[in-house]
Amino acid sequence: MFRNYNIQSKQAQLYKKMYVEQTLENVIKIRNKYNKRKGIKISIKQLLLMLDDFVDDSDPDLDLPNSVHAYQTAEKIREKYPDDYEMQITGLIHDLGKILYKFGEPQHYIVGDTFVLGAKFPKSMVFYNFIKLNPDFDNSNYNTKFGIYKANCGLDELILSYGHDEYLYNILKKNNHKLTDKYLNIIRYHSFYPWHSHNEYRHFMKDSDYEILENVNKFNEFDLYSKENEDFIDEDIKKYYDKLLDIYFPEDLII
Ligand code: FE
Ligand code: FE
Repeated sequence: MFRNYNIQSKQAQLYKKMYVEQTLENVIKIRNKYNKRKGIKISIKQLLLMLDDFVDDSDPDLDLPNSVHAYQTAEKIREKYPDDYEMQITGLIHDLGKILYKFGEPQHYIVGDTFVLGAKFPKSMVFYNFIKLNPDFDNSNYNTKFGIYKANCGLDELILSYGHDEYLYNILKKNNHKLTDKYLNIIRYHSFYPWHSHNEYRHFMKDSDYEILENVNKFNEFDLYSKENEDFIDEDIKKYYDKLLDIYFPEDLII
């Protein structure tokens, strides 16, 4: 499905807020806030249920609760990769970071394509005209090709705009489960469209990042909304994923 954006849409309004608010300084603040937060204990299945009432304003294609999108993504992966259970689980949980809305975060700190702070904003960004409103736009330390970074410093060094991806990645990094780093990186970079779909930021990549790029692109063909409604999630499908979740997430998470 195509991502069709319209300048009068709720997506445009969301991107405008995101681009005005998400400065390097504000992003560092919110990252620290969640990295230092004293967490609460919750099971991954409870988390999944909590996304039932979240509708992502950044997605131009459909208004569906996110839990439906979770099962849709996982099922599309299962069709093509019936034996790759980690990839299926990744499909199911990749958007759980949207739980940030339960903590009172506005959507412009949760969803939307991610981009790099502290370096020149690429022209391929969605609603590029709005990024000119970002207080960092004219900052001479930031608005160059490399900005505050070094050539080939590696993706991990970059400060990305904040959202559900970065949040969930950090939660998974500090909890016990059986998902490997390959899949955690898919989660972390799945909304990084300027990088994975528009060839931007190549000058920051180190050799091992190319494998991450390949994995993210492989995942991304499944991370789209489809026109089916929630009726397709039957008891068998729920049971199948409950079992996988028990295997990969035997312990509660601290979020
Ligand atoms: Fe997402
Ligand atoms: Fe998604």
